[in-house]
Amino acid sequence: MKIGFIGLGVMGAPMAANLQKAGHQIVTTLNRSPLPEGLTAEVLANPAAVAGAAEVVILMLPDTPDVERVMRGEAGVLAGLRPGTLVVDMSTISPLVTAELAQATRDAGGAYIDAPVSGGQIGAEQASLTIMAGGAQADFDRALPLFQLMGKNITLVGEVCGAGQTCKLANQIIVALNIEAVAEALVFASKAGCDPAKVREALMGGFASSRILEVHGKRMIDGTFNPGFRMKLHQKDLNLALSSARAIGVSLPNTATAQELMNACAAQGGADRDHSALVQALELMAAHKISG
Ligand code: NAD
Repeated sequence: MKIGFIGLGVMGAPMAANLQKAGHQIVTTLNRSPLPEGLTAEVLANPAAVAGAAEVVILMLPDTPDVERVMRGEAGVLAGLRPGTLVVDMSTISPLVTAELAQATRDAGGAYIDAPVSGGQIGAEQASLTIMAGGAQADFDRALPLFQLMGKNITLVGEVCGAGQTCKLANQIIVALNIEAVAEALVFASKAGCDPAKVREALMGGFASSRILEVHGKRMIDGTFNPGFRMKLHQKDLNLALSSARAIGVSLPNTATAQELMNACAAQGGADRDHSALVQALELMAAHKISG
């Protein structure tokens, strides 16, 4: 199949490479960076040309305004869409804007699925991403063979476009609050005189055990914050969660606190560190560092 793939960054490049390995042909357009190494793709002038050349167009772009620009811009996907073309947005963006873009795509004669992912760069490389989709069952069924080349845990969360994005934001709320809980516990135990490495080891055997205590707890104790998942991407996702919650009258008090702690980290130069660097905001507040 000829697949349009726009957004060949940290995540998109290995995802497109996995589609290509399975025999699909990739068509793309680039805004600045050259074609990633190891990927052969036909490079066209703009998203409209990509939409005109492909049966399915996958987007893996940074943020809501990027997807809006690529979709609605002068030479955007919508301008070049052929009847029946399926647009699959795998970026993490606003569920509200997603619903609008899906409607605009249907108005242009196409179909739309939102399918954000979790699992990071390693999941993208190993084709083991978790994929959370929203849209009509028939459109999901069309995209499924492609999803299976990029991910493992693949769920149609709801038959409304935006349901995948909402699920992804729920994921990001859980991850942020877990990181915050692990960071608070380790700062508390460490300033009380315990070795945080021993505390982590002890807790790993009990009810407080989690992947985040295991992986992110270790990063906090070692003081190594190479991403991983950049803090600024998590800030973007929590912003989306908070604004979506506000639009439907839901209060997310602890998500707001986690976001404020990330804002404090970013102000200290931490926006490009791994999100586990949230511990540094709590260390400042406690006037105590847990890592050597
Ligand atoms: P990235 O910044 O590495 O990649 C984005 C790519 O899009 C870049 O190559 C950029 O050049 C390209 N791009 C932007 N505008 C374009 C345009 N107009 N035309 C063509 N290309 C354009 O970002 P990423 O880390 O790959 O993340 C992509 C999405 O996936 C984000 O929404 C992010 O939140 C989500 N996500 C990321 C991770 C992760 O671990 N990095 C994990 C899960 C989900």
